[in-house]
Amino acid sequence: MVFLILSQQTSDINSSRAYRRLMERFVTLDAVASADISEIETDIAPGGLAKIKAPRIKEVLNKVLELNGSLDLSFLQEMPLNDAKAWPRQLPGIGPKSAGIVLRFSLGMPAMAIDTHIYRVSQRLGVIGPKVSVDKAHDILEAKVDPEEVFNFHVSYINHGRQVCRAQRPLCPECVVGGLCPSRKKFMSKADLAVLAAQEENTLAGSAGAPLPHVPQSEPINEE
Ligand code: SF4
Repeated sequence: MVFLILSQQTSDINSSRAYRRLMERFVTLDAVASADISEIETDIAPGGLAKIKAPRIKEVLNKVLELNGSLDLSFLQEMPLNDAKAWPRQLPGIGPKSAGIVLRFSLGMPAMAIDTHIYRVSQRLGVIGPKVSVDKAHDILEAKVDPEEVFNFHVSYINHGRQVCRAQRPLCPECVVGGLCPSRKKFMSKADLAVLAAQEENTLAGSAGAPLPHVPQSEPINEE
C-alpha cells in the first residue's frame, strides 16, 4: 500500500527509488509508521509530491495498526473476497483499484485491479457497458472472469490497452480481436473502412455456395 501511494502520479522508476530510500533508512514499515512526517518526506522526495504522500503514508500505516493491531494483512486471505475487498477501502485514499492491487499482487487473491487501460479496453470491447463506473466494473469483471484467469486477464488487457487499443488513435486495423469488437468501425479512417468493407465482401463472396460448416453427429441430449 505504501508503494501504491508512492506510485501515484509518478513514474515507476521514481516511485521505486523513493520506496527503496524509505526502506533503506527505516527497514520496517512499523518504523515508518512511527517516524516523523518530515523524515518520510525527505526519503520519498525522488517520487514527487512528497508533502502530500508522506502524511498519507503515515496515516494509512497507523490506520492499519489501529484496525488490525499489525501491518500484516495476510488475514485478508481468510476472508470472503467481497469482505476482503471492502477492508482496505476503510483506509484513507484507498479506492477499489488500490484494494484490488493489494489483494491480487500482495496476497495472491483473485481480485480485479482495474486501471485506465483495462477499463477502456473492456468498454470498447463491450465487456462492460459504456456507463458502468470503475467501481461497478470491478464487480462485473470479477463475476465474468474465472478466478484462475484474473492475473492473465489483467496483464493481457493492460498490454492490449498500452500497445494496441490506445486511448488516442487505437490500432484497430491491426487488432487481433477487431472482428469481435463493436467499437472497431468508430475508430477507423475512411480508407481503412473501405479496405475492411472489401475484405468482408470477399469473405461473403468466397463463402457463397460453400457447404455448411460440418457439425459432428453427437448423442441426443437427454433433457430431463
Ligand atoms: S478493434 Fe480497436 S477499439 Fe476494438 S479492441 Fe481493437 S483496438 Fe480497441
